[in-house]
Amino acid sequence: MTITAADTNDGALSTAEKTDTSTLPWRPFRVTVARLQRLSPSFLRITFTGDDLDQFGYDGPDQRIKLYIPRLGQGLPDFSFTDWYTQYRNFDPATRGFVRTYTIRAVRPERRELDVDFVMHGHPAPTAPVSTEAACPAATWATDASPGDEVVLIGPNRVCPGDSGGHEWNPPAGARDIVLAGDETAVPAIAGILESLCDDGLNGSTPNGTAPEHGVLPSADARIRVFLEIPEPADALDLQAPDNVEITWLPRRRDDGTSAPNGEPLVSAVTAVTFDAPQSSADDASMVDTVDIDLEVLWEVAAGATSSVYVWVAGEAGAVKAIRRHLVRERGIDKGAVTFMGYWRLGRALD
Ligand SMILES: Cc1cc2nc3c(=O)[nH]c(=O)nc-3n(C[C@H](O)[C@H](O)[C@H](O)COP(=O)(O)OP(=O)(O)OC[C@H]3O[C@@H](n4cnc5c(N)ncnc54)[C@H](O)[C@@H]3O)c2cc1C
Repeated sequence: MTITAADTNDGALSTAEKTDTSTLPWRPFRVTVARLQRLSPSFLRITFTGDDLDQFGYDGPDQRIKLYIPRLGQGLPDFSFTDWYTQYRNFDPATRGFVRTYTIRAVRPERRELDVDFVMHGHPAPTAPVSTEAACPAATWATDASPGDEVVLIGPNRVCPGDSGGHEWNPPAGARDIVLAGDETAVPAIAGILESLCDDGLNGSTPNGTAPEHGVLPSADARIRVFLEIPEPADALDLQAPDNVEITWLPRRRDDGTSAPNGEPLVSAVTAVTFDAPQSSADDASMVDTVDIDLEVLWEVAAGATSSVYVWVAGEAGAVKAIRRHLVRERGIDKGAVTFMGYWRLGRALD
């Protein structure tokens, strides 16, 4: 079944409002699950295929996308409108699907394939099919997915001139002391960033083979420290990275079988980092103190830094906020040198 605007109570867009999506920066792609690969207890790689995935643009190694996941028994909408999000919002909330954000782990336009690594939160070892009506629709859908299942992916459009956006890795020229930190949801983005730095990897080009429009490659003598919090030791993946990268995996699961609270290992590790360059005096913390992380996304992108330090942090909002406050307020790191993305919130569903 296809949901159209006319099927909804209030989403009646006329045919005239439909537009050719061929040059829009972001566009919908109808995709099908081609195969699944369990990477570790908590990570599941889903490879999608779609007739027009050769048109998927990819401007940065931490490229994000939106996934539209239908409810059980519902079909996919025809998102062929100018503003897919307005269309989505106009669908009947009782029947419309769920929109969640994910990272592209790899894309192979020539094969019309794309990989997304899903964290199986809430479902470490599923033994029976679960319902998409459950509390975590995206993780539940992934747990239950099988080849042939369909979703709509909204992502950058290859034929749009220029950068379509949706990526934040952007170290300034002169960055010599780089810290990348995240929880399991940021592992796909950080894995992509590290791969893009490898001589035998993407070598600084974007995955569709073009030169990046923003950002510069850190010099080979830059020190790059990576901190990754994961549910358990077996979730430490084999990441491709150049020699100047030091990776520290931070499993929450302890030897005695108990687990540290979400965010605790990451906050402890990053707040213990020392930086070579002396930092300026502590900056104001106006933004971090005013954002209500239970209602809003904490998202602050580095811009205009002259510092040799560059920090990229992503994950659960409480942990990201604590790290941001420590680095900017207590350590005096130039806030123009830090990118903070506190995009999911423990105990809250945010679309
Ligand atoms: C830019 C960006 C890139 C992202 N990339 C990825 C990615 O590549 N892979 C990936 O798996 N996730 C990624 N995420 C995170 C993902 O969007 C969230 O985890 C999302 O909430 C999952 O949706 P859901 O429907 O499963 O759960 P929701 O319905 O959103 O949440 C339901 C409940 O589950 C909890 N919850 C959500 N995520 C987690 C988690 N990871 N661990 C424990 N509890 C959780 C919530 O607190 C809530 O209580 C990314 C998010 C952003 C903004």
